[in-house]
Amino acid sequence: MGVPKRKTSKMRLRTRKASHRWHAPLLNKCAQCGSTIASHTACPSCGYYKGRQVLSINA
Ligand SMILES: [Zn+2]
Repeated sequence: MGVPKRKTSKMRLRTRKASHRWHAPLLNKCAQCGSTIASHTACPSCGYYKGRQVLSINA
């Protein structure tokens, strides 16, 4: 059975755990209307994604 050769140090453990910390989602601006949107997502306010209309918005 494979077992760790060395004990994980407190610093190494904490450094690893620090990468699991929650961070705020990265938000971009819509190229069409300028509203704040999550990346890789069609804009909910104007329905544009990658420069073309992909959602029908009934305003
Ligand atoms: Zn938009």
